[in-house]
Amino acid sequence: MRTRSERFGFRFTESNPLTGDAFAYSRFADLPGFAADVVVDGLRLDAGQWDHLVEHGMVIETTGHGVYWVPGAVIEPCRACSGDGRHRVAGMIDPDRSCGRCGGAGERVIIPTGGLDRAGALFGGSGVFA
Ligand SMILES: [Zn+2]
Repeated sequence: MRTRSERFGFRFTESNPLTGDAFAYSRFADLPGFAADVVVDGLRLDAGQWDHLVEHGMVIETTGHGVYWVPGAVIEPCRACSGDGRHRVAGMIDPDRSCGRCGGAGERVIIPTGGLDRAGALFGGSGVFA
């Protein structure tokens, strides 16, 4: 259970919510904005250079397995469930359902250009929040 905000980062070995494949196997056009920004601003690669690495399976050789921090993005406890991931009706916990806001993850990723629910959109489900 997350109790405070922390900065958000990701690894290129993690699953791209837009394709289901790892970020490392995703063409530039298929990367979410925050990952595309890291490629351009952090790795200093353009779309053509990135796609070349993807086509040759050489992304991880370039990025490594480490975490890339997304400037300005944070993971914070879900306010709807206070971070425990449980669904509430009029303040009472419903044991049969997960929090509708965070999908039971108890946390959300807030990105300056929009937000992604960590357990949902970022790791293979649904739920993109503005
Ligand atoms: Zn929640």
